[in-house]
Amino acid sequence: MKVLVIGCGGVASVAIHKCCQASKVFTELCIASRTKENCDRLAASLAPKTATRLTTAQVDANDVGQLTALLRAYGPDLVMNIALPYQDLAIMEACLACGVDYMDTANYEPEDTDDPQWRAVYERRCREAGFSAYFDYSWQWAYRERFEQAGLTALLGCGFDPGVTQAYCAYAKKHQFDTIDTIDILDCNGGDHGYPFATNFNPEINLREVSAPGSYWEDGRWVEIPPMSVKREYDFDQVGRKDMYLLHHEEIESLAKTIPEARRIRFFMTFGQSYLEHMRCLENVGMLSTSPVEFEGRPIVPIQFLKALLPDPASLGPRTKGKTNIGCIFTGKKDGREKSYYIYNVCDHQECYKEVGSQAVSYTTGVPAMCGALMLLTGKWKKPGVYTVDELDPDPFLEALERYGLPRRESHTPALVE
Ligand code: NDP
Repeated sequence: MKVLVIGCGGVASVAIHKCCQASKVFTELCIASRTKENCDRLAASLAPKTATRLTTAQVDANDVGQLTALLRAYGPDLVMNIALPYQDLAIMEACLACGVDYMDTANYEPEDTDDPQWRAVYERRCREAGFSAYFDYSWQWAYRERFEQAGLTALLGCGFDPGVTQAYCAYAKKHQFDTIDTIDILDCNGGDHGYPFATNFNPEINLREVSAPGSYWEDGRWVEIPPMSVKREYDFDQVGRKDMYLLHHEEIESLAKTIPEARRIRFFMTFGQSYLEHMRCLENVGMLSTSPVEFEGRPIVPIQFLKALLPDPASLGPRTKGKTNIGCIFTGKKDGREKSYYIYNVCDHQECYKEVGSQAVSYTTGVPAMCGALMLLTGKWKKPGVYTVDELDPDPFLEALERYGLPRRESHTPALVE
């Protein structure tokens, strides 16, 4: 089958490596991005090792006209959007115009947070829903009816978190519990890249996410707290003790709907002291701002300028050592008894680098993206509408993850230290 991948950064590169390992399904693949040279370089390095027929193209994925022209010319069965969340809506529009299935790894957020049309909707959502992160599912859920009517599937957020964490929740609900009471999603990166400050995926998206207020779902409503104000320490299998901080994260929004009995759903991520100190300092001097400022007669967006100064996440591969441990802790009831359950994956940065030339954060996102595409192309998740991973059968997806490098581990002894 024919697949168009949009984006050729850290995550896309892993997903493309993995698609090329499954050439029987991914028979033809076009890599399209803003900078075509990156696509050409990747295609040239993979071509001798795969039976997948690789081509490349240049596209500005903010431009629906350019996207529809490319889709009409190439005629793919599926578009894998692994560019940035800013492009989600334009790519969904182009897929609808051309009758093609869609998937991505992160939910929509606007590039320009000063845009008055977006701002009005955002401010209403902050008041009504009660959380103030820039990203949320409402923009993409609004496409449900159009995808249903077109007989097309859109799969949202199929990386690790969001993505695999929602499959873990669907798996826990299907196989481990009659009712789920609490869910804690834990994203631990025990890797060390040796820089005082760098982000493991796109710096602009990463810093916007972690500098936003934290929020969680409790007793049917959102509770919002100042950034980094709730800390826990966990002792992770194969990583050891790590500090974690509560963040807002998109999968909480969908899980509150698919597991409505859950009394509390939270998301925690590890941050080292050096990362936090740098981030606070950059925020205090205004470097995380998304609004343009005048500099020597031209507007610059501080966070975009900062991105240009920071190490490219794709360059961290050779220098990152250690492991990631990402999973979910559940409490609830099975057969009338209280129970807790922990499901997670451990991934080694250097092993990932040896296999695909990327660190584990790109790997743990790119592999699920490829496995999600596999679910759509083989018909296992193909149904008209817009879906998050927690709404779909977790079993074939978890089997595919096992096969393509992200096996799950299970335990009944969660790792909270304090
Ligand atoms: P990178 O910045 O490394 O790569 C982004 C790619 O998108 C680049 O190839 C870039 O091209 C391309 N791109 C950006 N703008 C456009 C445009 N207008 N038109 C065409 N191509 C464009 O990002 P990552 O690989 O780190 O992240 C990719 C996605 O994965 C992001 O959406 C991120 O939020 C998501 N993610 C999801 C996770 C999960 O677990 N669900 C975890 C980590 C990331 P160029 O080089 O020309 O700029």
